[in-house]
Amino acid sequence: MLFKAFLIKYGEIGIKGKNRYLFEDALVRQIGFALKEVEGAFSISKEQGRIYIEADGEYDYEETIAALKRVFGIVGICPMIQIEDKGFENLAEEVVNYIKQIYPENQLTFKVHARRARKNFPMDSMTINKELGDRILKAFPMMRVDVHQPELNIYVEIRKQIHIYSETIPGCKGMPIGTNGKGMLLLSGGIDSPVAGWMVAKRGVEIEATYFHAPPYTSERAKQKVIDLATLVARYAGPIKLHIVNFTDIQLYIYDQCPHEELTIIMRRYMMRIAERIAVESGALGLITGESIGQVASQTMQSLFATNEVCTMPVFRPVIGFDKLEIVDLALKIQTYETSIQPFEDCCTIFVAKHPVTKPNLKLIKRSEEKLVEKIDEMIETAISTREIVICK
Ligand code: ATP
Ligand code: MG
Repeated sequence: MLFKAFLIKYGEIGIKGKNRYLFEDALVRQIGFALKEVEGAFSISKEQGRIYIEADGEYDYEETIAALKRVFGIVGICPMIQIEDKGFENLAEEVVNYIKQIYPENQLTFKVHARRARKNFPMDSMTINKELGDRILKAFPMMRVDVHQPELNIYVEIRKQIHIYSETIPGCKGMPIGTNGKGMLLLSGGIDSPVAGWMVAKRGVEIEATYFHAPPYTSERAKQKVIDLATLVARYAGPIKLHIVNFTDIQLYIYDQCPHEELTIIMRRYMMRIAERIAVESGALGLITGESIGQVASQTMQSLFATNEVCTMPVFRPVIGFDKLEIVDLALKIQTYETSIQPFEDCCTIFVAKHPVTKPNLKLIKRSEEKLVEKIDEMIETAISTREIVICK
């Protein structure tokens, strides 16, 4: 492999001063985490507002790019070659060699962008641009200079070593995990919630997740599917602490005591209450769900109003305005879709009424919930204290 190193481009406008360090340090940490999956050893360094990755020996190029494309905060990945400074003649030869190898057709229009970060190099940037341009034209008579819209931009950076690169592979943008606090994702086995978690993680938010299962009505396989989904999201978001809450007794109790058409809403309200309790304990600052207006009866504006009413934390619903197909597109892109569509039962679907209320009346819902006062607090405590915790990575 020609490339032994990568320049990482990042940049979120407005990240200055101390925040810049936090951003960069978090990015370096996340790059380290992502590269653990890749065969090979790497060193990551920060230098004058840039991040470099160098491969120490053999490594898998495709895997490396794929892993870096999952790191939030990276705008572009530039595979580069590094050469020792042995004077201009040597540099010109190396650049010509580089073009020969990367663009063997060499019929492109081009522009050289030299940057002299080390001022003791004997030529200034303008001179380097011009002289390198001349050498390239001489070596490749089919190439032409175009300073406005070149097909090929050749970057030459004079640092301790000299860096040469031309290609920028797009990264997934966003902000590095760990720069924006923590959120608690309500993760089901469906298509929407993993996408919702990914979207919030993209803004630098560390993710924990809560899953409600109802054994024996929901199977071990359904639970494993949620663990698998958390693990897939963790490829982007870093390790996810997944809280698995046994919801069976609460669900049966609601089923016994409350009108069946209100079941889903009441259940969803208890899920939010419990998730918020765990969130507070974990230091999370918001809840995240995969709700989208009007998608199902429990996601009408009235239903969302009723569900939201029990929460004191902000509830983030990043797919709120998306159509199902738009969510599916994202699920395909982040590779959670195949797992999400595995046909295992969900604890919400087992107890659903034939005709759930689509416009729940909060007063009536609250009145129904009063029928639960005798046991519900204790049941919530038990559900929280007996939860299982799995670290998904
Ligand atoms: P998804 O595709 O995310 O499962 P959905 O279309 O099936 O969503 P609902 O079942 O109404 O929608 O759930 C809405 C949201 O409530 C989910 O996106 C998820 O955030 C949360 N949720 C639902 N069921 C569970 C569960 N068993 N455990 C944890 N969270 C859940
Ligand atoms: Mg669901």
